[in-house]
Amino acid sequence: MAADNEGRDQVEGFAARLRDAGVKVTHQRLVILRETAAAGSHPDVETVYRAVRQELPTVSLDTVYRALHLFADLGLIGTLGLSGGRVRFDPNTGPHHHLVCSQCGEIQDFEEPGFDHLGLPASAAGLGSVDSAHVELRGLCAHCVRARRSKTSSR
Ligand SMILES: [Zn+2]
Ligand SMILES: [Zn+2]
Repeated sequence: MAADNEGRDQVEGFAARLRDAGVKVTHQRLVILRETAAAGSHPDVETVYRAVRQELPTVSLDTVYRALHLFADLGLIGTLGLSGGRVRFDPNTGPHHHLVCSQCGEIQDFEEPGFDHLGLPASAAGLGSVDSAHVELRGLCAHCVRARRSKTSSR
């Protein structure tokens, strides 16, 4: 199936979920959702805003911000809080885990069923009520590993 068709199916799915959640389906919201999914790698508000503006030049950052938080509240997208960073949004709501690049900030998904059902340790259970858990690996993305290697070899 072509990527275009998948994109359309995904937007149709998002539209259905907006309707199911009792939220008005507007062209603007669909564009924002589509661009969030198209951005692929956990975009922040600014990144989605820049992409949406290509199609909707009059859209405001605040509108995009509010739409993204609405989608997150509805469970249409996930959110990631980064220490010292901005909130990043995650179009992938299936069970998955992340590799965070400490050099460029790229966040990549990976799946590992063994990580999906980690038992909650007693030390965490006492802290409050837990809704979900995911594993975050930190290191360098393949791109930054290559960049670092070529820098070292050219010295
Ligand atoms: Zn990187
Ligand atoms: Zn993700």
